[in-house]
Amino acid sequence: MEQVYIGLGSNLAEPVQQLDAALSALAQLPSTRLVATSAYYSSAPLGPSDQPRYTNAAAHLETDLMPHDLLDQLQAIELNQGRQRKAERWGPRTLDLDVLLFGQHILDDERLCVPHYHMHARPFVLLPLAELCPTDFILADGRKLADLLQQCPIDTTLQRLHTPQLCSV
Ligand code: ATP
Ligand code: MG
Ligand code: MG
Repeated sequence: MEQVYIGLGSNLAEPVQQLDAALSALAQLPSTRLVATSAYYSSAPLGPSDQPRYTNAAAHLETDLMPHDLLDQLQAIELNQGRQRKAERWGPRTLDLDVLLFGQHILDDERLCVPHYHMHARPFVLLPLAELCPTDFILADGRKLADLLQQCPIDTTLQRLHTPQLCSV
């Protein structure tokens, strides 16, 4: 079993419901258990600013899936929830599921980069993730989560919303 952390984001078609549905789908993945979910957060969009605010969260999974098989499953959930891949980078989307951390694996190939290449710069990723990890958590590449949190740019508009009901055991 690998301990895996997923970052979730949505800014189209009822984002809170998109995240609720995504967490249900994560809980039903084969060979996988949804251990815990963070609160939901509201964040300003990354990239193009002429798009709605995002709702973000993080999820802790335990899985026997291989990393690329998990990515396949995540992309299937995204598509199932209406994700359209467009040329515009960081454009609006119904659902984004990113692998933040996959156990102690460090991967960098054409499909998968873990730890997620940009998580250190994203408060809307680090804050929910920190809810799920011990304070002394160390990433596979040796970085300390506490240091990333401290060095991350501050987003004064980031808002912590509610904790989702769905919190599997
Ligand atoms: P960002 O990666 O900056 O958050 P994004 O999530 O909008 O941007 P996507 O369009 O969702 O990017 O994914 C683009 C590609 O990123 C995917 O096809 C996938 O193969 C690749 N990718 C690389 N590393 C990861 C990862 N850790 N989690 C999810 N996808 C990844
Ligand atoms: Mg992303
Ligand atoms: Mg993505």
